[in-house]
Amino acid sequence: MKKIIAIDGPAGAGKSTVSKICAARLNYTYIDTGAMYRAVALKVLQSGKNLDENLINDIEIRLDAAGKVFLDGREVTKEIRTPQVSRGASDVAKFGFVRKKLTELQRDMAKSSSVIMDGRDIGTQVLPNADLKIFLTASVDERAKRRFEELKAKNLAADFAKIKTEIILRDKQDSEREIAPLAMADDAILIDSTNLSVEEVVAEILRLAQ
Ligand code: C5P
Repeated sequence: MKKIIAIDGPAGAGKSTVSKICAARLNYTYIDTGAMYRAVALKVLQSGKNLDENLINDIEIRLDAAGKVFLDGREVTKEIRTPQVSRGASDVAKFGFVRKKLTELQRDMAKSSSVIMDGRDIGTQVLPNADLKIFLTASVDERAKRRFEELKAKNLAADFAKIKTEIILRDKQDSEREIAPLAMADDAILIDSTNLSVEEVVAEILRLAQ
């Protein structure tokens, strides 16, 4: 039977890491909705145009099974991961017409197979009838530390204080926006991963999914 798992939470809580692993183990499709908001932000940044419905109406965003992201037919998997695009994604995510368009696409993607979808409003708005809802969080210091170590491991420049500030600002903007803010659904299960390993979080979600 087709099942739906919704995973929401603040920036850097490890949603995509654990969602990918759980999806592979359960043989579900993983849908990274943050990547979709990032793709819209990239389109705005690169087009030099104002964000309006014309720019969004014919947008084509595709996530393939290997986790690659395509914007209007072009692969943008790496380009959407810059700090500029992270900020831009949170900015475009405030607009109702953007959320409406992406929510429609996301519901469509969840129609044909079992999915794990992660984001900020999946349990509250996009898929309120999900079979399992998780709200995954961790302390802001732990989330900043994980980002910092991730960048270091890739030999990329990393400034802990800056990463922490960006996370705090993005969470504030995402939680305080009027439409579909970052929020835990009433029927979601809270997992605080501050002192848990990736494998421990995965095990807990798989146990809940059983
Ligand atoms: O999850 P990720 O950090 O890639 O998301 C980037 C931004 O996209 C978030 O900060 C948030 O503003 C927005 N977003 C959203 N709703 C979602 C997923 C992401 O508003 N379902």
